[in-house]
Amino acid sequence: DAKAHGGDRASVFVPAMEVAARRADEARTMVVVALERGRVSLDYQPIVSADGAVEAMEALIRIDDPDRGRIGPAVFGAALDHPALARRVGRWVLEEALAQLATWHESGFTFGVSVNISPQHLLDPRFVDDVASALERLGPVPTRLVELEITETAALGDTRAVDDVLEAIAELGLTIAIDDFGVGHASLRYLRELPAQTVKIDQSFVRGMLTSAADFGIVVSSVQAALFLGRRIVIEGVEDAYLERVARSLGEVSLQGFHLARPMPAEAVARWLDLEGSRWHDRPRAEDPLF
Ligand code: C2E
Ligand code: MG
Ligand code: MG
Ligand code: MG
Repeated sequence: DAKAHGGDRASVFVPAMEVAARRADEARTMVVVALERGRVSLDYQPIVSADGAVEAMEALIRIDDPDRGRIGPAVFGAALDHPALARRVGRWVLEEALAQLATWHESGFTFGVSVNISPQHLLDPRFVDDVASALERLGPVPTRLVELEITETAALGDTRAVDDVLEAIAELGLTIAIDDFGVGHASLRYLRELPAQTVKIDQSFVRGMLTSAADFGIVVSSVQAALFLGRRIVIEGVEDAYLERVARSLGEVSLQGFHLARPMPAEAVARWLDLEGSRWHDRPRAEDPLF
């Protein structure tokens, strides 16, 4: 225990925990207030296939703060997995994102939507019901165009319970992505067993692969394994043209990152597709010389 290490340590350690707890409380209050005042919204970030088609928009939660402007989970992320809030926020995000997808399809767009699921909501006994009821927002849009992003760490947690939930989700016809792959040390055998169509390689490795041989190795071997297992791969955190080319050289992968598009409000998506969406067609292919 902390005392055994001497008073010095304990006195540093305890306040640090208190600070973290206070911050979590503040985050929670911020999210509750924002929900009540209608200040929660979603940004959307495109995911583009290897041949340049816009496959999906990932929904990313934001709060419109009167003082601080539009803020993201870096500020209030702790609240997203708070036991008392995870389900409330999770249901709101699901309903909002699916309604938005229905609106886009009414305007003739054909891409899908990806929704981040908090581990706490995933393991709530009402999760599958929550997903099923949100599906009513879709109208005629095919259910398979809705992808749920489950973090690798959550997928590795209570494996039995998670397996049952993912099976039920697959039965409803949704698709499943493993988010932040590589962070949770999932074995490749486990990847083989997971009912996930998509693997998203964590951006820390993607960014690291330019300077670290180890990170490069992790990305290359994860991509190779996922390709052999027939999974779709998304390379996250593609921040510049150079990373784009390196990522494309890994094989048939989809791309997501600031270099392609920053997350944007729903209203900006149609204009982005108009002005920039087509730019991602006819990009240099993987077989083109890199250097
Ligand atoms: P994530 O699902 O891995 O989402 C990717 C994050 O990376 C997003 O941050 C996105 O804005 C950011 N990003 C995208 N491209 C780049 C890039 O090229 N460079 C860099 N540096 N960053 C990039 P954001 O929106 O702050 O979200 C952070 C995390 O919060 C998400 O990570 C996800 O785990 C969680 N999150 C976001 N929205 C939701 C939500 O609606 N529900 C839940 N439960 N979690 C959410
Ligand atoms: Mg995600
Ligand atoms: Mg991710
Ligand atoms: Mg991440």
